[in-house]
Amino acid sequence: MDDEDFSLGDGVADDTSLVYCAYCGEPNEIALDPGSGSVQEYIEDCQVCCQPWLVVVHYMPDGSAQVTVSAADGD
Ligand SMILES: [Zn+2]
Repeated sequence: MDDEDFSLGDGVADDTSLVYCAYCGEPNEIALDPGSGSVQEYIEDCQVCCQPWLVVVHYMPDGSAQVTVSAADGD
C-alpha cells in the first residue's frame, strides 16, 4: 500500500469547479487541471464580465479541489 501517493489526473480528481466571480457575483464553471499539481495559482478571466481573477486551487488527498477566486487587481 502506498497511502502517500497522491495520484492526480487519473480520473478521481475534480476537473471542474463552480466558482462565483469576485466582481459581478455570477457563477462560473471553470476547468481545472489535476495534472498541474496539488497547489495551483493562476489568472483566469470571468466568463461573464471578463475581469481577471486570481484563482487558487488546493487539491485534497481525496482528489476534491478547493478553489478560491479573488480580484486579481485588488492589491
Ligand atoms: Zn464576473
